Amino acid sequence: MVSFFNFQKGKKKLGLLDLEGALTARDRVGIQDFVLLDAHNSETAFLDNLKKRFSEDLIYTYIGTLLISVNPYKELDMYSKKHMDLYMGVNFYELPPHIYALADNAYHTMLTEANNHFILISGESGAGKTEASKKILQYYAVSCPSSALLDTVRDRMLMSNPVLEAFGNAKTLKNDNSSRFGKYMDIQFDSQVGSLFLCHKFLMVSIFLQGECSSVISINDKNDWKTVRNALSVVHFDDTDMEHLFGVIASVLHLGNVQFDGDTKGYAVLNSNAELRWVSKLTGVHVQILHESLTYKRIEARTDEVLCPFTVDHAIYVRDALAKAIYGRTFTWLVNRINESLENQDASRKTVIGLLDIYGFEVFYVNSFEQFCINYCNEKLQQLFIQLTLKAEQEEYEAEGIEWEPVQFFNNKIICDLVEEKHRGIISVLDEECVRPGDATDLTFLEKLEEKMGNHPHFVTRRVRSLSLMSKALSPLSSLCSTGFIDKNNDLLYRHIKEVSGSKNSIIRQCFLSDEVDSRRRPETVATQFKNSLLGLTEILMAKEAWYVRCLKSNDNKQSGKFDDVLVRHQVKYLGLMEHLRVRRAGFAYRRRYEEFLKRYKPLCPATWPHWRGVPSEGVEKLVKHLGYQPDEYKMGRTKIFIRYARTLFATEDAYEIC
Ligand code: ATP
Ligand code: MG
Repeated sequence: MVSFFNFQKGKKKLGLLDLEGALTARDRVGIQDFVLLDAHNSETAFLDNLKKRFSEDLIYTYIGTLLISVNPYKELDMYSKKHMDLYMGVNFYELPPHIYALADNAYHTMLTEANNHFILISGESGAGKTEASKKILQYYAVSCPSSALLDTVRDRMLMSNPVLEAFGNAKTLKNDNSSRFGKYMDIQFDSQVGSLFLCHKFLMVSIFLQGECSSVISINDKNDWKTVRNALSVVHFDDTDMEHLFGVIASVLHLGNVQFDGDTKGYAVLNSNAELRWVSKLTGVHVQILHESLTYKRIEARTDEVLCPFTVDHAIYVRDALAKAIYGRTFTWLVNRINESLENQDASRKTVIGLLDIYGFEVFYVNSFEQFCINYCNEKLQQLFIQLTLKAEQEEYEAEGIEWEPVQFFNNKIICDLVEEKHRGIISVLDEECVRPGDATDLTFLEKLEEKMGNHPHFVTRRVRSLSLMSKALSPLSSLCSTGFIDKNNDLLYRHIKEVSGSKNSIIRQCFLSDEVDSRRRPETVATQFKNSLLGLTEILMAKEAWYVRCLKSNDNKQSGKFDDVLVRHQVKYLGLMEHLRVRRAGFAYRRRYEEFLKRYKPLCPATWPHWRGVPSEGVEKLVKHLGYQPDEYKMGRTKIFIRYARTLFATEDAYEIC
């Protein structure tokens, strides 16, 4: 699974004495790995340790190789080039826990094992996931060798961040810079040319968001504007591209300002033409065409076309749907352009580290379709974590015949099934309602849910025109309002696609191809598209080895130095950290197949060197006995040796390096 080898010689390592010295400071700074915590079963001791460290600005703590990070809400002096250099090529336990240590160990393990890895960064909205992912990226960018080609790719890769954040992040009640899209990137390394840093790709799962906040204290628009313009030029946008891109954004803003009044029959009429003229100028679509498409629906009769006027509510819905579609598709276009600028033709010999930064769990006073998608995504990743750590770990012990006291944990699968199961899950029921001829409404959707899953242990409905999806799992309860689910899932654009496909703005033209409207095939619903990209993402991740960063939010007020016990305890619970610790503590830090273990360490034992001709497990037994392993330090499985403590392995590795 994970190795802890130190490949860089000549660096000062902390010896046992240093370690003991460090342990005397324990009372002040707490313990840097929860595995070493005496009262390991106590949630209170766990929280005390986190709090103690947090008050000393020690925001990172390990559970084995999992890194916990608590958001300090202040700049800490621990991310300089000097710090990066310090962490390069050192083992986990040689220096205080750090995001750089995790990045570095993932990198070295990838090199040694020549396989692909990913780093999953999770936690609720505002917990520090995006900051963590940027720090990892910067670490790789700085720690890899330099060359003209690499520097160009590296710059583009780093500069893609401000661009994507400018278009894909927004202020919410939880976070001033909240990611409204999930970002997965593959960072490629060329292991044969000395580990070069090459390129990345994004896989997007994006959410659309509307707000009324035009200025945010923590954000400096003037500086950010300069940064984004510069970043766009680095990722190869010329002046025309930029003009068209900003034209699209301006048109969406003007579209949002278009207002309607009701005529005597309640049908929508434009309040003023001024805004629409701006939209027309920026998109190059005739103002009359825009006007008609926002206030009428064209229905084809047998020989003729009938214009059907919209009510004011309907016109507002259509206006927002168009704005959302223009913005959303432009964002996807932007991601594709950035991907193209980073495309690496020669993918042979490359191994990758995938980096996943998504939108975190969020629960507002009123939660709608967007929170349903976001929280479903988080439940799914929590399930992946459970599957890859708790479940897989215990299954491996069983398969290998290692004696083991099973650790109980909540299996999130039941929650994921509730959402995504074919024919029975919430998405299925929603889609059925969306295609049902007749007048499906949010209320009929709610009735169908009650009919299909009224007895589900994790689902309750309340009939105040709202649907309540209660997760009794450890994750935050999501109480969802069903209003808007049908419309948002359908995301119908009526005939706008046709209208805007004639746009003079090249980006809009590329985003709305005219043949799309002629296609008879009904597009997939938003929830189904979301589910499919998530399943695709899960498959990508399952094929790689995992590293985890679990981000915790220290308080709800974005206040530095404040540690809210109740809030942190809640996150520790639903992120399953106590269960993870229990499995880690009772388990083994390291395991390797007998053949591989023997191949690496056979020079350390005369009985196995230079050739061991017997059964590999017997050779390993001879080897570890020769090295003086104590019985509690290791177990022999069916195909692998399991080593309980990382320090045992470090000692073996040190001996190997000397020999
Ligand atoms: P979301 O799910 O909404 O995207 P997130 O988990 O990505 O949230 P971030 O945007 O990374 O949250 O962090 C929120 C804010 O917290 C940052 O803008 C920054 O002010 C602060 N923050 C996070 N991590 C750190 C850190 N390591 N050091 C200092 N400040 C931090
Ligand atoms: Mg984020």
